[in-house]
Amino acid sequence: MQPKGKVILAGAGPGDPELLTIKALRWLQKADVVIVDRLVSREALQEFTREDVLIVPVGKKCSDHASTPQEIINELLVEYALQGKLVVRLKGGDVSIFSNVLDELKTLTEHQIEYEIIPGVTAALGAAACAGIPLTARGYATAVRMLTYYRSELLNESYMQDLARTDDTLVFYMSSGTLDQLVEKLVHYGIASDKWIAIVEQATTPLQHVHHYPVNDYLDKAAGSSYASPTLIIIGKVAALHGSFGWMPDSRSNEHYFTPLSVAGADLYNKKLPTC
Ligand code: SAH
Repeated sequence: MQPKGKVILAGAGPGDPELLTIKALRWLQKADVVIVDRLVSREALQEFTREDVLIVPVGKKCSDHASTPQEIINELLVEYALQGKLVVRLKGGDVSIFSNVLDELKTLTEHQIEYEIIPGVTAALGAAACAGIPLTARGYATAVRMLTYYRSELLNESYMQDLARTDDTLVFYMSSGTLDQLVEKLVHYGIASDKWIAIVEQATTPLQHVHHYPVNDYLDKAAGSSYASPTLIIIGKVAALHGSFGWMPDSRSNEHYFTPLSVAGADLYNKKLPTC
C-alpha cells in the first residue's frame, strides 16, 4: 500500500510574496500539490514552487465568482494525501484567522493524515505595517481586536456600544461592504472625535491604497464608497497615525492584485498561471 502523504497548512501572508515565512517557502519548494486560496500572490506560486507542481485553485472562479465548497477542499486534501503526495494547503494571511482551517483539521485527523501548521502574517499586521499604523502604540491603545461585520447580525447592540466606547484598536476583516452600517452604529453610540478610520485596500501589494478619515466625518465624506478587494478596516486613535507615518505611496491604479487562478473550465493545472 502507498504510504500516506502529508499536508502542510500554511499561511502565505497578506500579499507581498516576501512576507511568506521561510518555513512556508521551504515546504512550497518541495510540494507535489498546492491547494491555494484566491488571496495568495501569483508571484509566490510561480517563484517558490517546483516546475512540475500541481496547483489547485480553490478560491473564486473567473466565470461564476463562486467559491469551492469546503467539502470539496476537504476531499482534495484527503485524495492527494492518500496518493502519498506532499500537499501544501496555502491560505492568505495566517491559517487560523477567519479561515476554515478547523474543518480541514477535523478531516485530516479523521483520516489519520499527518499535518503541520505554519503561521503567516495576517492582513491586520501587514496592513498596519504598510499603512504606518502601530496597532497598540503606547498612549493610544492597550489592545487590538480582530473582528468581522460581514453580516450585521454578527455583532449585537450591546457589543456595538462597547466597540464605540473602547480604546482598543478595532480591525475589521471582510467588512467593506457593510462599512456604512458599521460607522452609523459607532457614531450612534457616541464614538469619540479623536478616533479615526483607515481603510486599506490591497495591503502590502504595489496596488495598496489607504483612505483615512475621522470616524465622525466618514459618512459625510465617503458614504456609499466601494473599495477594491481585499480591504481591511482599522478603527481607533492609532488610525490617525497613518497621516504622519504612512510610508508606502498610494496606488492610483484600478487593477486587482489578486486575480482568480482558473482558466476556462480547468481547475487543475501544472505550473502555468494564466490570466483570466
Ligand atoms: N486568513 C486571512 C484572512 C482571511 S479573510 C488573514 O489572516 O489575513 C479575508 C479578508 O482578509 C479580506 O476580506 C480582507 O478583509 C482581509 N485581507 C486579506 N488580505 C488582505 C490584503 N492584502 N489587504 C487588505 N485586506 C486583506
